[in-house]
Order: sequence, then structure tokens, then C-alpha cells
Amino acid sequence: EEQTITCAGCGVQIQTEDKNETGYAPKSALEREVIICQRCFRLKHYNEVQDVSLTDDDFLKLLNTLGHTDSLIVKVVDIFDFNGSWLPGLHRFVGNNDVLLVGNKVDLLPKSLKRNRLINWMKKSAKENGLKPVDVLLMSAEKGEGVLDIASEIDRLRDGRDVYVVGCTNVGKSTFINRIIKEFGGDTEQLITTSHFPGTTLDMIDIPLDDGSALYDTPGIINHHQMAHFVDKKELKQITPKKEIKPMVFQLNEGQTLYFGGMARFDFVAGERSSFTCFTSNDLNIHRTKREKAEELYQNHLGELLTPPGKESMVDFPPLVKHEFTIKDIKSDIVISGLGWITVNDRNVKVEAYAPKGVGVSIRDSII
Ligand code: GDP
Repeated sequence: EEQTITCAGCGVQIQTEDKNETGYAPKSALEREVIICQRCFRLKHYNEVQDVSLTDDDFLKLLNTLGHTDSLIVKVVDIFDFNGSWLPGLHRFVGNNDVLLVGNKVDLLPKSLKRNRLINWMKKSAKENGLKPVDVLLMSAEKGEGVLDIASEIDRLRDGRDVYVVGCTNVGKSTFINRIIKEFGGDTEQLITTSHFPGTTLDMIDIPLDDGSALYDTPGIINHHQMAHFVDKKELKQITPKKEIKPMVFQLNEGQTLYFGGMARFDFVAGERSSFTCFTSNDLNIHRTKREKAEELYQNHLGELLTPPGKESMVDFPPLVKHEFTIKDIKSDIVISGLGWITVNDRNVKVEAYAPKGVGVSIRDSII
């Protein structure tokens, strides 16, 4: 007979089937006297927070609750996938609370990209998206760059209030929180707890601050726009940049096409000979071809010459969908969520970007 077991740490229902779903515990854990989920286990024994994600519904509930708090909200975005990781509705939910906007993964961008320019660009984009952050900062949670400055800025801005850290999955929120725990760790071991978020099935990580307030790591929401959903782990590694991107410049004539593995396609449809700069993973092969031959090439060589996807993930790989852009007078980036972007350096051109169905493709004023 089925019996529901709940985690003694956070109260979530225990399941033993899916490691990536909430409430997972290995079968062996069920024999213990006190049963806790993997997430609470790691937190308790390793002081480490794990990725969790909410359904869209639960996430809305969570955001709604934030508006009723008196707190500082720290919103983390992935600057490599700014739009895809933005959390569009946030400004409508935060109430009167201040939002500190943090752009993570700055280590991926070329050193030549001036940080101040990027910050100004983020401020402008935030405003266009309806959000007026109190401050905008950059960090590399993984490399540690900027993390301490952000910690002290958080402490200044919060002015005695609680802090909620929010973001999409994969923006590096756990990496950031884990670093903060390590930096200020000392004797937090006993203190970090999970607490239940009202109205949701999920819980938050609760890190005590000196003055009795707390820093809450809230569960993320899945970034549905990303490439990540269509490839296996190995292929994902290949398309996700791990270190400073070396941009690739292509001089193209009208009627030429670039393939990014088999993940995406970029056509120069009309315009004078122009230059295009690709900011994608250094490990991703870019293949140039003639536009008139492009379709045939894809049909015949997806999974081989045009890879990833490989032979296996190719089977369920969604068809590429076309997005058309006309660029008149502003230097622009065509962004493919989770893959990177192509800077169109010249004006008065028409281009098309193809990405798997469901993957976000957008145009923005160039950040370069
Ligand atoms: P979360 O889902 O927001 O908690 O994200 P994680 O902390 O699990 O990080 C997601 C992925 O991004 C992992 O592969 C990390 O290694 C990577 N990552 C996190 N922070 C950084 C960073 O500062 N730079 C780079 N290049 N990668 C990062």
C-alpha cells in the first residue's frame, strides 16, 4: 500500500524515482529513522544548496508573496542569456521593494568589453522591461569575481531588512549562494535551514544574517526558451561557453549562411557585404555555406557535419523555425537563447535566424 512520506527538513513529499525532481531521496534513505530529502541532506551535511525549480504557477505565487514582504530583492540574470533569463513579470510583483540587479557569468564575455558599458546597457534594458533597479552589478559567481562587493552592497541596501535572491534556473544562483555561505560560513552550519514558502510545494533556503534578518534563496523557474532542453549533457557542454568567448568574425556576402553546429542557422538575406561577429561557445563549430544549399545541407548532414545535436538527440530535435530581422540604423545583436548572439556590425541589412522551435530568438541594441 502506498504511503506518503514527507521530508523531516522541509516537509516536501519524498519520492525515490527522479533525482531532478523535488523531494528526491535514494531508496536507502527510507530505512533511516529520520528521513530527509536529498536537497536538505546536502544542505545539512555539505552546506550546499542545490538547484530546484518551480512550476510556473508556483513561481507566480512565490512572486506574489514577495510583494507583501518588506525586503531587498536581488535578481540574478545570466548576462550570456539576458532576455531568456529575465523573469518578465517581476516588476509587477515586487511591490515597493528595492531590486538589486546582478548580472552573472561576466567571465564569459571578452575582456575587451568595457564593464561600464555593459552595466549601462543592462540599466537601459531593465528600464525597457519595466524594472528600475536600485543598482546594477556584475559578477562571476564561479570565479568569485565581484561576489564580495555584491555581498557588501546587499548589506548596505537591505538596511536591516530580509533579502530574497530570485532568478531563473541556470543563472548561477546556487553557485552564488554557495559562495556566500563559504565566505561568511563560520558557524552557519547549524543555522542554515529550509523553510516552507507559503502556498507553494517548495521551500526556501534561509541563511541567517547578523542582525536577525535572513537571506532567502528562493527556488528558480525553468527557462523554457533555452537550447538546453533539446540536447544531451555532453552536447550541452559543447554549446555552453565555459570560459572567455573568443568572438568569431565573418565577412559575408548576401546569400550566405552560417550553421552553428546543427543547433541554429543564420542567413544574410540582403545587403552590402557586411561583417558579423559570433559570440558563441569556442567549442561550437560554425559552418559557412551558400544560402541556396543550406536546407539540403541540413537534411543530409545534421548529426554529422552539423553537430550537435548528435545522432541520438537528433531524433527528437525540433525543427528549426525562422525569425526575420531588418536592421536599419542601430548596431544590433541577434540573440539565440542559451547559444549566444551574432552582432550585426553594419546597417541596412536583412537577416534571418533559425532556432529550434521553442527557443527564444530576439534582437537588441548591441552590447558591444
Ligand atoms: P542555478 O540553477 O541558478 O542555481 O544555477 P547554478 O548555480 O546551478 O549554475 C548553473 C550553471 O552555470 C552551472 O553549470 C554553473 O557551473 C554555471 N555557472 C554559474 N556561475 C557561473 C559563472 O559565474 N560563470 C560561468 N561561466 N558559469 C557559471
